Amino acid sequence: MTKYVYTFGNGAAEGKADMKNLLGGKGANLAEMNLIGVPVPPGFTITTDVCTLYNKLGRDYVVELIKADVEAAIAQVEAQTGGKFGDSTNPLLVSVRSGARASMPGMMDTILNLGLNDTVVEGMAKKTGNPRFVWDSYRRFVQMYGDVVLDMKPTSKTDIDPFEEILEEVKHEKGVINDNELSVDALKELVTKFKAAVKAKTGHDFPESSYEQLWGAVCAVFNSWMNDRAIYYRQLNQIPEEWGTAVNVQAMVFGNMGLTSGTGVCFSRDAGTGENLFNGEYLINAQGEDVVAGIRTPQQITKEGSIRWAALAGVSEADRAAKYPSLEEAMPEMYQALFNIQKNLEKHYKDMQDMEFTIQEGKMWMLQTRSGKRTGAAMVQIAIDMLKEGLIDEKTALLRVEPNKLDELLHPVFDKKAIKAARVLAKGLPASPGAATGQIVFFADEATEWVAEGKKVVLVRIETSPEDLRGMTVAQGILTARGGMTSHAAVVARGMGKCCVSGAGSLQIDYKARTMVVDGKTFKEGDFISLNGTTGEVYDGKIATIDPELSGYFGELMEIAEKYTRMSVRTNADTPKDAQIARNFGAKGIGLTRTEHMFFEGDRIKAMREMILADDVAGREKALEKLLPMQRSDFEGIFEAMAGYGVTIRLLDPPLHEFVPHEEANQKEMAAEMGISVEQVKHKVESLHEFNPMLGHRGCRLGITYPEITAMQARAIIEAAMNLKAKGIDARPEIMVPLVGTVAELKNQTEIIRSVAEKVFAEKGDRIDYLVGTMIEIPRAALTADHIAAEADFFSFGTNDLTQMTLGYSRDDAGKFLPDYLNRGILKQDPFQVLDQNGVGLLVEIGVNRGRQTKPDLKVGICGEHGGEPSSVEFCDKVGMNYVSCSPYRVPIARLAAAQANIKHSK
Ligand code: PEP
Ligand code: MG
Repeated sequence: MTKYVYTFGNGAAEGKADMKNLLGGKGANLAEMNLIGVPVPPGFTITTDVCTLYNKLGRDYVVELIKADVEAAIAQVEAQTGGKFGDSTNPLLVSVRSGARASMPGMMDTILNLGLNDTVVEGMAKKTGNPRFVWDSYRRFVQMYGDVVLDMKPTSKTDIDPFEEILEEVKHEKGVINDNELSVDALKELVTKFKAAVKAKTGHDFPESSYEQLWGAVCAVFNSWMNDRAIYYRQLNQIPEEWGTAVNVQAMVFGNMGLTSGTGVCFSRDAGTGENLFNGEYLINAQGEDVVAGIRTPQQITKEGSIRWAALAGVSEADRAAKYPSLEEAMPEMYQALFNIQKNLEKHYKDMQDMEFTIQEGKMWMLQTRSGKRTGAAMVQIAIDMLKEGLIDEKTALLRVEPNKLDELLHPVFDKKAIKAARVLAKGLPASPGAATGQIVFFADEATEWVAEGKKVVLVRIETSPEDLRGMTVAQGILTARGGMTSHAAVVARGMGKCCVSGAGSLQIDYKARTMVVDGKTFKEGDFISLNGTTGEVYDGKIATIDPELSGYFGELMEIAEKYTRMSVRTNADTPKDAQIARNFGAKGIGLTRTEHMFFEGDRIKAMREMILADDVAGREKALEKLLPMQRSDFEGIFEAMAGYGVTIRLLDPPLHEFVPHEEANQKEMAAEMGISVEQVKHKVESLHEFNPMLGHRGCRLGITYPEITAMQARAIIEAAMNLKAKGIDARPEIMVPLVGTVAELKNQTEIIRSVAEKVFAEKGDRIDYLVGTMIEIPRAALTADHIAAEADFFSFGTNDLTQMTLGYSRDDAGKFLPDYLNRGILKQDPFQVLDQNGVGLLVEIGVNRGRQTKPDLKVGICGEHGGEPSSVEFCDKVGMNYVSCSPYRVPIARLAAAQANIKHSK
């Protein structure tokens, strides 16, 4: 028979820590704490299976199913506490709390003091001799139960909470400010009025029966699994709905029984910095929700913490010691007990713990322990410290750090206090992490001018194009109204390690008026805004930022990762500077240099335009001659920055129309430069227009129709490598052909490349080693990889295009419907960010396997945006890739993810 109810108490438990799926995190840990001798009020856990049944079959079914078990469990708690549920002389009160597999702080409901009614309250007042405490507990219970179970809580922000209204009224009448100044009679009056409000709104009396109260509360917790907050939180954190929540019913202990009682939360280490420093907050004479509610100022647990707090809050030492003493000072014995317990728990769980406790008349009780949430910096420091302390081994230390959290260590971040006070204007995609504050500019030229004057700017565009690159380079951050995670703005910004929020659809940008309207406010050029590229939030005004510290801990973590990694990590870099940044982060080679990005700067765009606008081969070759030395010197710089490692340079890829001048002034300039009429320029620009440029004249299709482009690029690459060789620098070129769909396309291009290389070797009287390989980014290429491999020295999966073409979602237009797809659960994740392993991944796997059927040692990597996304990196390890390649600032993330993948796959 399935067991639905697990009891714990007095050092025994039916569950244990590794039963989180069934008992939820809280329930499993309550059981475990009993087993290791930590004082925990007795109680029981109703399993997550029951939640699933509740959602399917409803309340009556579930109550019938577990009624006998729950009554038996209550009897056990009664025996252990000596109280009786519903009894007026010696009552047992319980708390009812949610607890899912993964912690979802504050998302679901809790009820305290359950079991009180009009007769129990009298009996309990007599028994404790403390009517104030008892009546205070009762009024809290009626309010909480009313809100959570009886739907008394207002549903909109403008509705008035009836309980709050009554409370204010009574306080006003009695002339008191704080709740704890209310007399017993005033508390009694509150209860009566609260209950009348319940009757008025629901038409029913407040339930007197303890069991009726209990079932109401248990079902309310199950219901709260499906409330909006919980659903949203699950979406954000990818928690499946099927998991359900457990319900924990526990004997109440009271922190509000007077000055020898209290309650608080504490952490075994600092969750913000990672420092090995026990810390937390508490309140004397209070119940759990008071600490969180922020009505009273919580006090620090340790004296050291208290002194630090006072310094920040501007409280004098005398005031601090008198009004806000630490637990260490106010209740030294309780402090010692708590200190020992947290040490034990951390040692037992081998991780930083986040705990809740209650002190009832001089006795310490633990109500919860769990692994504490922490910042990226804390995550790294705690893992390394625990490794050094011998608490965990190297593999565990690596697995403890969420790769994406390393991001926080690599980019400037907002000052925590400043961000709290800031107003969110809009939310877009978190396209490139980091924090940015600056004055709005709408045009790239202005960005450059303003920055030259010493200003800090945020470039705001409907969408960016290659013409904006210079403006993007100098801006603090980039904000676009359109475009997804692989839009131009996003890819370029990530490459630069620059903060970018893309696709913020609620922005109305008017280039003519130079205004941006958002959230009802009109922003002009020069107004300040701030961006959080990690969350996608756009803020009003300036927010202070601080530079991250790349502490020694980060380096130590990377060194350990290196030991456990099979795949290597390369970078996508288009400039020597980016290559150097990535190398400093530990990149071993370049997996993708997008050569088209090298033509955006300065006069190069003119030579490039001349090439495109030329009418014949002769005209193109003339322009290409101008481009050749520029390319060669770029390649030399990149080879030098990555000396000793492979550098994959991809031949020209983008649609040509992206390069031609669309603005009148630029068209005039080009016409003058080439000695042709503006009309001719316009005509050419129009003729290059494509209905579907992503599927148009790009990639190797360009190199096939204009072989002189491929020849020029091949020459620039080989010459650059040979020039470096002459200087004693080890350059290792790998030439990559983009957008290949058939082996004949690849063959066409490799023949040109190899013949140019031979020519250069003959001219220079020397040779070098080089590779020629291909992107696999068209489904047909993956499916025919066995044929394609015959012509390729290596494969690099371009999962941006492969995703686009497999799902049939345009990279440029998917932003219009993807958010909807995600909201409706049609897609679980954005496939341009997280590799669609079941679909696109299948093509990748086929491509790897078929390629290696032909060439067993074929070198295979990935250079799409997924190469820096941890779950996709894990997939790349699984299918046996040799390397992943990602933008420079993602290199550490990919390195850690690669180590974790190898640890998991070699288990
Ligand atoms: C890709 O398609 O995955 C790729 C890396 O190339 P690009 O993003 O330049 O099209
Ligand atoms: Mg591509």
